[in-house]
Amino acid sequence: LVSRMRAFGTTIFAEMSALAVQTGAINLGQGFPDTDGPAAMLDRAVQAITSGANQYPPGPGVLELRQAVSEHRMAQYRLDYDPAGEVLVTVGATEAIAASVLALCEPGDEVIAFEPYYDSYAASIALAQARLAAVTLRPVNGRFTFDPDELRAAVTPRTRAILVNSPHNPTGTVFTRDELTVIAELCQEHGLIAITDEVYEHLTFDGVEHVPLATLPGMRERTVMISSAGKTFSVTGWKTGWVCAPPELVRAVSTVKQFLTFTASAPWQLAVAYGLRTELEWVAALRAGLQDKRDRLMDGLAAAGFEVLRPSGTYFVQTDIRPLGFEDGLEFTRRLPELAGVVAIPTQVFYDHPERGSHFVRFAFCKKDEVIDEAVTRLKRLS
Ligand code: PMP
Ligand code: GLN
Repeated sequence: LVSRMRAFGTTIFAEMSALAVQTGAINLGQGFPDTDGPAAMLDRAVQAITSGANQYPPGPGVLELRQAVSEHRMAQYRLDYDPAGEVLVTVGATEAIAASVLALCEPGDEVIAFEPYYDSYAASIALAQARLAAVTLRPVNGRFTFDPDELRAAVTPRTRAILVNSPHNPTGTVFTRDELTVIAELCQEHGLIAITDEVYEHLTFDGVEHVPLATLPGMRERTVMISSAGKTFSVTGWKTGWVCAPPELVRAVSTVKQFLTFTASAPWQLAVAYGLRTELEWVAALRAGLQDKRDRLMDGLAAAGFEVLRPSGTYFVQTDIRPLGFEDGLEFTRRLPELAGVVAIPTQVFYDHPERGSHFVRFAFCKKDEVIDEAVTRLKRLS
């Protein structure tokens, strides 16, 4: 293995899901729902296969999906992207992020990301031989946010891009317009490209609205906007994502993407196009249901003795384990199956400064109510 990848080992999601299978523990670690997406959309995938959508689709993606993505961006955010040159379909958001970083960063360039960050960011940046500059999100009145001065101080002459994930995994923070304005101004002042990861765009709670960075003045022209179908339609295994950006940026990302995977699987693309056009009511119901599940898990975790931080978006709740008498989340989550028959994710693995997150543990709530309830019953054994 090349030296720049040696630090990465196995992802925490693979490690913890394997632990769940091995021990029979309830898996509130890796974020994937235990119920299926809209039935008619699943039927469309079957129909796509039986009606012959089984050969290579065009490199940029099936036109129908690029059109549906474009219509969806317009309807949701009043953002205008041309399906012919400003939309690229990828193998999930993961490929979109990797291809964007590889296409836009020279070796030695710096990419700012907020820690804790989704694990593929550091690996994509390392593959590009660029450097990650982490700006720490810290809880202020129970909500993770950044210090604008720390963000400004992270910019150097080598800074090329900033990776912005909102709604944010793993903290559940949805950046406010004010926070996004700080980021937007910095991008314009220093000529930075913004790469946005918006895979949880539809999963926000308590009336909080997701604001895409590209909708802020001066940002559409310098933003690579990324999303995917996995979270929106509860089909994380379909691995269908997309990039929306001005033609020059999409051309750069496509140049790399064509040699990573050439193109993404055809049947899912047709089904996701249908989903974006016809199933947004289903998504609204998913969002409402998830808000109830969030509250259910938060109440249960609090009753079990955790300090719980309220997320405004995503599938995840952050907890502080210190009230239970534990200090180290990695040690805690490795023992949790044996202690309580539950699997969770140690947030510290998403930091460049693990000591800043050592006492945080992430629990997923995209699970059936009875699964959440049983996990809570088990976790109450801890106190
Ligand atoms: N970004 C974030 C923040 C995520 O949580 C995930 C995990 N689903 C991804 C990207 C990857 O998305 P996809 O499965 O579409 O590659
Ligand atoms: N995005 C999901 C999570 O954060 C799953 C990621 C993965 O398995 N790579 O749990």
